[in-house]
Amino acid sequence: MLNGPPRVVLAGCGHAHLFVLEALAQKQFPRADVTLVSPAGEYFYSGMASGVIAGQYRPEQACFHPARLAQTAGAEWVCASVTRIDTGARRVYLDDGRELGYDLLSLDIGARLADDDMPGARECAIPVKPVHDALGIGTAADAVTRTASPDRPARIVVVGGGAAGVEIAICLSARLLRDHGAEKHQITVLEAGEQVLAQKPESARQRVGAVLRSRKIEVRTAVRIRAVEDGSVVPDSGASIPFDVLVWATGPRAPELFRDSGLPTDDQGYMRVDATLQAEGYMTIFGAGDCVSLVDHPWIAKAGVY
Ligand SMILES: Cc1cc2nc3c(=O)[nH]c(=O)nc-3n(C[C@H](O)[C@H](O)[C@H](O)COP(=O)(O)OP(=O)(O)OC[C@H]3O[C@@H](n4cnc5c(N)ncnc54)[C@H](O)[C@@H]3O)c2cc1C
Repeated sequence: MLNGPPRVVLAGCGHAHLFVLEALAQKQFPRADVTLVSPAGEYFYSGMASGVIAGQYRPEQACFHPARLAQTAGAEWVCASVTRIDTGARRVYLDDGRELGYDLLSLDIGARLADDDMPGARECAIPVKPVHDALGIGTAADAVTRTASPDRPARIVVVGGGAAGVEIAICLSARLLRDHGAEKHQITVLEAGEQVLAQKPESARQRVGAVLRSRKIEVRTAVRIRAVEDGSVVPDSGASIPFDVLVWATGPRAPELFRDSGLPTDDQGYMRVDATLQAEGYMTIFGAGDCVSLVDHPWIAKAGVY
């Protein structure tokens, strides 16, 4: 039996939790003491990120604030990351040293970027996640193209030929073409696999391939990057590839939090949840979004809003 309203901790300001906050604001749930934990004071909607990079939207149009959403929902907002969960004691530990008890815990913390800890990547590349960082890609490409010339075009290299990498390459090309013409930049997409958009249907690949060719975006497949140096990326084999702007769009990987906390995970480290989004074997822990693996649908990609 609980003494008073249940303590609900929402870890992460991801998509599912935005709907929870909306439902709380509409008083759709019984009374609860809700705390939202997320590490940033402002977020940018990823579905608009490419539009910001292309210069179609201003960053503030894609922005939302967890503190305001929490306040409207009658919840408390804590600016921190969850670093560990003690499932026995029902406590979460935060990176600022605080800890919170919970009766119900929901985890919507997204995925990390693959290989973001590769030597040099953090210093030299602009990652597509968090989206806040990705918004700088357009202005960085713009700055190097401004001072480039047809003899020495700005070299923009995108590592990763998945949906995010390809979409960003096309949006960048639209922006640079519009603002600087076609001659002062060269965009290259490097993909480790045999083809870009490997998880998409063949018809989509064909159509996107035609767009890439029409924009003169170079696509190099079977190129696996093993290191990033100042001004160039180093593939497993072959010569280094120079860049002026490097975009890191390497796809998702699981956060460490679940394994570190002894929660059930799939072989890649995503938390296993059942059809009710409860962690396997845990009535009080829920998960949603890119950070989980649905036990009945494990093949669903760990990126994308469903
Ligand atoms: C450039 C780009 C464009 C995209 N465009 C699309 C699109 O058009 N359509 C589409 O479906 N998908 C798109 N995606 C993919 C989409 O962004 C993700 O699938 C989606 O954001 C996943 O939502 P989520 O709720 O799981 O997590 P996220 O939206 O990643 O949110 C995770 C939240 O958890 C927080 N967090 C992380 N770690 C912790 C922690 N330890 N403790 C507390 N909080 C934590 C983060 O700060 C963040 O608030 C795009 C991705 C990128 C990078």
